[in-house]
Amino acid sequence: MPISSHSHSGQFCKHAFCELEEIVLRAIEVGFTHYGLSEHMPRYEPEDLYEEEIEENMEPSELCCIFEDFVKEARRLQDKYKDKISLIVGFETDVIRKDCFERIKTLKKDLELDYIVGSIHHVDGIPTDISLELYEKAEKLAGGTELLMCQYYDQQYQLLLEVKPEVIGHFDLIRLYRPDFEFTDIIWRKIVRNVDFGISYGALFEINTSGASPSKKLKNPHPHKRVLEYLVESGAKLTLSDDAHGTGDVGFWYNNLSQYLTDNRVTELHYLVPHPQKKVVCRKIVDCLSHPFWTHCREFLEEN
Ligand SMILES: [Zn+2]
Ligand SMILES: [Zn+2]
Repeated sequence: MPISSHSHSGQFCKHAFCELEEIVLRAIEVGFTHYGLSEHMPRYEPEDLYEEEIEENMEPSELCCIFEDFVKEARRLQDKYKDKISLIVGFETDVIRKDCFERIKTLKKDLELDYIVGSIHHVDGIPTDISLELYEKAEKLAGGTELLMCQYYDQQYQLLLEVKPEVIGHFDLIRLYRPDFEFTDIIWRKIVRNVDFGISYGALFEINTSGASPSKKLKNPHPHKRVLEYLVESGAKLTLSDDAHGTGDVGFWYNNLSQYLTDNRVTELHYLVPHPQKKVVCRKIVDCLSHPFWTHCREFLEEN
């Protein structure tokens, strides 16, 4: 389907590539009609800066300015290309320390943003999706893989309770460096709890194709097939995201996606559209597999 609810650009994020306008133009070319611009939220403490930011002697206050510039540029593009693509403007969360929930709520309110992609990239303040070394550090601190995963899903639950993000980002990102670790009963109970709560307030769960990247060991989009099966059975609202960090990622793996959706019995998808009072409203696509986008997208991605 011509939708992606989650993306980044190198213009406003040091670990991504390309200008934001290039991402939007590429999304139009690939055939997207609805695309979410969701830059990472700023981080507020010097110890939370990433390596590439430290190398450039950046300060947390700069991340706040960069984020504000992102919002301005995203709004400009939203208007400029409104006849070609429906853009929504928001951010992807980080949960690093206790004050983050207040920060998330304030950021959305102060900058009048459309929506939030609720993601967890840290456990106990340590990034768990950057390197195996940091992942192992977090694992050690937690007391093992199972306990790390439990902490991850507990933090995710807190985020859902506190913020009720419109989109839940890459639900099982914590599997990134442990793709073959089986869900234990205790982990599975937490997953079910989080899914059920997300459903109760109408969250959109993404099928995030970045999980299938050849640089990662997961081999499939997020979330794990067992989680996807539970989402489908439970009637959760599903959306799609390429989680692009550059033009090369726009529509990544979408040429395989219609088959993947068929195999996993996904027939309905949801997406967000701008709304003057409510910021966004959710729309549903039934019979999503028969859409002409799939053919266009497959052909375009194979040629370009
Ligand atoms: Zn990123
Ligand atoms: Zn993310």
